[in-house]
Amino acid sequence: MILSHGPLSIAIIGGGIAGLTLTIALLKHCPHLSITLYESAAAFGEIGAGVGFEPVMVRTMGLIDPRITVAFGKCTKGNVVPEPPRWFTVRVGDRRKVIDNVEGEVVARRAGREVRLGEEVFVMPARRGPRGGVHRAHFLDELVKLVPDGVAQFRKKLVDVVEAEDGSGDAVLQFADGSRAQHSAVLGCDGIKSRTRAIVLGDSDATKAVFSGKYAYRGLIPMAKAVEIMGDVNPKESQMFTGYHGHVLTFPIANATLFNVVAFSSRPSWNEPEWVVQTSRQNMLEDYKHWSPTVVSIMENLQKPDIWALFNHLPASTYYSTKPLICLVGDAAHASTPHQGAGAGMCIEDVYVLSRVLAQCHSRADLEKAFHAYDAVRRPRSQKLVKTSREAGMLWEFEGEGVGADLEALEQNALKRMEWIWDHDIVEDLEKAHKMMRAEA
Ligand SMILES: Cc1cc2nc3c(=O)[nH]c(=O)nc-3n(C[C@H](O)[C@H](O)[C@H](O)COP(=O)(O)OP(=O)(O)OC[C@H]3O[C@@H](n4cnc5c(N)ncnc54)[C@H](O)[C@@H]3O)c2cc1C
Repeated sequence: MILSHGPLSIAIIGGGIAGLTLTIALLKHCPHLSITLYESAAAFGEIGAGVGFEPVMVRTMGLIDPRITVAFGKCTKGNVVPEPPRWFTVRVGDRRKVIDNVEGEVVARRAGREVRLGEEVFVMPARRGPRGGVHRAHFLDELVKLVPDGVAQFRKKLVDVVEAEDGSGDAVLQFADGSRAQHSAVLGCDGIKSRTRAIVLGDSDATKAVFSGKYAYRGLIPMAKAVEIMGDVNPKESQMFTGYHGHVLTFPIANATLFNVVAFSSRPSWNEPEWVVQTSRQNMLEDYKHWSPTVVSIMENLQKPDIWALFNHLPASTYYSTKPLICLVGDAAHASTPHQGAGAGMCIEDVYVLSRVLAQCHSRADLEKAFHAYDAVRRPRSQKLVKTSREAGMLWEFEGEGVGADLEALEQNALKRMEWIWDHDIVEDLEKAHKMMRAEA
């Protein structure tokens, strides 16, 4: 039996940051649409530890629904806000960059000052406004509270979507448990290994994500312990230790009770079927054997040495299909490496634009126009993030084209590269999308 829903019903696939915020947005702005969220897991849940949001993204949360900003605020209220705000303080963590051992591990001489291993090289300022790192699970818990009972169905792993045979033009969803459901359109928020992406793009090379050459160790250290490890450096402020083919980021989460660590390293290929694999402590420490005592101590204090392989998508030629109507959102559309800290932020922007264009939809033809406008506005920006994030991963690890380990050139590049992400006017994008829809009416 196929469960079918009322006029214009929307299926959201996947309940991560994209799927949950989209559900909240559609319930608020599209009362005329019926919304069902299908999640393959038995319950909502996030893996990994921290995720950071900059003011441009937090403002967009508020444009979607001020309750999302409140949820974010609950997860960041104890964070330290330096003045002026800093994104990261950049330090050299790799001993191989030392140019003068005699004077005590000097890594650079800049503007008449000697910079030692682990000392501040430069600061990447952040924009003013609410920002910071949240514990993924805590943020998701807050978002889940905004989704009324009955909207989400669990243990519903989507396996296929086909056009209905009843002439309605609907999408028929097939799940791994054998059940089916019929909806006017499907919004694929099913992440980097997206099934909906494969259905939309068919046999294109862009269907599957590719290994970026980087992997990460992720973990949490109690803040009291981090204070001991970091010595003179404030662990409640975000730090980046750069080096050759690796870098280590730290920032506070969970109201500054936890010290979040993401330590990156490089390898040419990834041949294992799983993207998160366990490794030994010894292997992990081997990756940082050339690094400063502070970095080594951070790594020694990570409890579970899991390796996360970092993949990203190649550019998709479209984010939607019409027969059946499917539209891709968040990582399903544009999974990126995390090196500019904006993948989840792009999910939030997608949700803002898509939910507002869907608010104008009263027929299947409207849905198609809405997807077209969303695709035109969102694809260039989100794909630029994928490309530039990959480049940033190389930049932070002394591999940047024309930059290498030159700290002056690194600073010049770093200080400019986030402007297009952080100074963006998403409301203008929405206006463009609305204009496109009107022009097609
Ligand atoms: C190490 C690391 C650090 C990062 N740091 C940041 C950061 O600081 N700032 C930032 O903005 N971004 C960051 N990101 C990126 C960010 O985490 C992602 O962009 C974001 O979480 C993607 O959310 P999503 O909802 O699109 O996908 P996901 O979180 O992957 O959610 C997909 C959901 O779909 C479900 N699902 C999958 N397949 C199916 C199916 N067939 N049927 C039904 N359900 C399905 C899954 O169970 C899951 O719940 C980071 C990423 C990494 C890897």
